[in-house]
Amino acid sequence: MKRFLIVVSIISVCAIGLFLGQNNLFAKPHTYKGEAYPEGRFPQEIKNGQYPRTYFPNTEILGKDEMRITALGTGMPTQTPSNKSACFLVELGNGDKFLFDLGVGATDMLSGLQADYVKLDKVFVSHLHTDHIGDLASLWVAGWIGGRYTPLHVYGASSSSPELGIKVHVDHIRDAWAWDVTSRAGTLPNAGGEIVAHEFDFSKTAVIYNENGVKVTMFPAIHIRDGSVSFRLDWNGLSFVFGGDSVPNKWFLKEAKGADVVVHECFFTPEQWVKLAGFPYKQAYWVTSVIHTPPEGFGKIMSEIKPRMAVAYHYWNHRDIEFEIFEGVRKTYDGPLTMSDDLTVINVTKDHIEVREATIDHEAWAQGTGTEWDTAPRGDPATGLMADWLREGEMKGFNPPPTQPID
Ligand SMILES: [Zn+2]
Ligand SMILES: [Zn+2]
Repeated sequence: MKRFLIVVSIISVCAIGLFLGQNNLFAKPHTYKGEAYPEGRFPQEIKNGQYPRTYFPNTEILGKDEMRITALGTGMPTQTPSNKSACFLVELGNGDKFLFDLGVGATDMLSGLQADYVKLDKVFVSHLHTDHIGDLASLWVAGWIGGRYTPLHVYGASSSSPELGIKVHVDHIRDAWAWDVTSRAGTLPNAGGEIVAHEFDFSKTAVIYNENGVKVTMFPAIHIRDGSVSFRLDWNGLSFVFGGDSVPNKWFLKEAKGADVVVHECFFTPEQWVKLAGFPYKQAYWVTSVIHTPPEGFGKIMSEIKPRMAVAYHYWNHRDIEFEIFEGVRKTYDGPLTMSDDLTVINVTKDHIEVREATIDHEAWAQGTGTEWDTAPRGDPATGLMADWLREGEMKGFNPPPTQPID
């Protein structure tokens, strides 16, 4: 026993020494060539198009004229550890970052990327199914704690009545998380706790974002009910199209024509859905072919559009399932194709498209808060959140006195 205690004491002393000796325990991002990176990361320029076979986040400098697209979720509402719900991150050489959809599980991937939360302040929502927007509250709060000191902006559609549009959706999220958000008053920057809905008319193709040389256009999609849309982003002669859930439609064919990278859902066949989900054939046909796009339909769209790269998503990435879906696509389309997986990464320049997979750090923590976050205006600390009798039930003397001034 005595020997055990000595060993424990030695380990404890070493751990304390390690703690005191490391100044990088104060997690702070650092700025390198205009971008924030986790401490200790110094990214390299990619020369002569020689990309490493695997993309390790925060190790590569995005070229000034380059776009990087990362699939953070490509699966279904029944998300799994290796197959999150829909989300695509688009990063541009001018430093801007855009999220298209934010399905459940996508924020796990953002943590894994150790992305700069300051830049992750724009989410474009195709429709209000959980597999496309279920992680919104998570990004709102996690980003706020993780460094965002400005509001989170959410761009989404109206629907057949006001209560089904993005504005009411966001209002309800704000109300539902009042316990959480008001409890942080005074500790976190005021503005970072704001979430702002930008609602647009789902029925009319329109430019809904136009800043810093980046234009985002929305157009109608056909998916169960009014209010599903798709998006096209144009910047610096490059284009990215993100199809939310939809059957093939005339707006998509028009707006996505000839774009560089075109992402569209590519659902299961009715036969697969009978087998995988146990649905009767009639319901399986409805799901796979009336409200979604089966593989041959995906191929027909891409044969018309002829993108530089067609990207399929919205299926389970099991090997047996994926291959059947791939075969279905190839019946109607023989052009460039990426069957995307979670963490598929696509670098795009005017004359090259590189498709790889990212490897993320599963133990990653956020970059940490920058000095702007530290000094951004805060309100008075929240008071009156707890009854006196509850606070008085606290065990006395459990907490060593502060080692630094706290007033
Ligand atoms: Zn979906
Ligand atoms: Zn949907």
